[in-house]
Amino acid sequence: MFKPKRIIFEKDSLDFEAARNIYEEFKDKDVEIISLTSNKLKQHIPGVDLASQYGEGKRTLVVGTKKSLKFQTCKPSAHYQLPLVSGCMGQCEYCYLNTMLGDKPYVKVHVNVDDILNQAQKYIDERVPDTTVFEGAATSDPVPVEPYTHALEKSIIFFGKSENSKFRFVTKYNDIDSLLNLEHNGHTEMRFSINTSSVINKYEHFTASRDKRIEAGIKASMAGYPVGFLIAPVFIYEGWKEEYHDLLLELRSRLPDGLKFPVTFEVISHRYTTTAKNRIAQIFPHNELPMNDEDRVFKYGQFGYGKYVYPKESLDEIKGFFAEEIENLFSNKEVKYII
Ligand code: SF4
Repeated sequence: MFKPKRIIFEKDSLDFEAARNIYEEFKDKDVEIISLTSNKLKQHIPGVDLASQYGEGKRTLVVGTKKSLKFQTCKPSAHYQLPLVSGCMGQCEYCYLNTMLGDKPYVKVHVNVDDILNQAQKYIDERVPDTTVFEGAATSDPVPVEPYTHALEKSIIFFGKSENSKFRFVTKYNDIDSLLNLEHNGHTEMRFSINTSSVINKYEHFTASRDKRIEAGIKASMAGYPVGFLIAPVFIYEGWKEEYHDLLLELRSRLPDGLKFPVTFEVISHRYTTTAKNRIAQIFPHNELPMNDEDRVFKYGQFGYGKYVYPKESLDEIKGFFAEEIENLFSNKEVKYII
């Protein structure tokens, strides 16, 4: 659960019950509470250089409303982003959000969830009889704020009643207990981003441990949710095969049989852009991410910028390894992709 250092309430946000609940939750705790009277929220987040601005931003919760209700598209995995939350308390060194959220990457929760879901209904109606898919974690991890926003809870209940839509989100956290007994009707897919303990301990600061994420995934699957595991980013390092094997084995040993939905797997090898690499060097000057361009292959991406990926023989090894492991260990499963 996200325990912020400061909370900034945007003007008029306290008109909403969800914002008042957050205020009640934190008013007597050791948290700085700021009520904004202007739009200048960033001046309340300190920091003298990019690294300290980053750290302070990550410890800041902004409570506000989503004003523009035009949703961003979210291809290819979904039709639209569902803008409940932006930003994330995690400090993963390789995170793609590092280049997207500005110098002070605060977490912002939108408390006008009813407006957001009403807008989702409009998008659903436009596409009937086709199914419209919404992604809840395109620019955030919405789970660590869920215990006090209840935005996922509302959304899951909303999509549970809807015949022409689906909802999905992905997380590196485990605060999902309040979601287990909801009437989701199988319309929400929870995905858990997992990795070896070596990778988590080295690069994924302030996230849940490997075993806590697995445990959350097991709980979600036992609650009847469609569940997926995103193994990303995969790094090649000494002992990687043993550790990824151990990860999958642990998952297999805890996953119950007879689940209604196949467990899905998505596997993504580590890649980076030059922009991301430069940014990471400023925020985490001592990072040990394997980002030597000479060790990688430059690949042009579909969005016009290129990425450095593992060379073909390494990628083939990753693909072969995970395909075989997942095939051998899991019966009721679907491998979506290994890239
Ligand atoms: Fe980024 Fe996800 Fe890590 Fe948050 S948990 S910093 S969104 S990779």
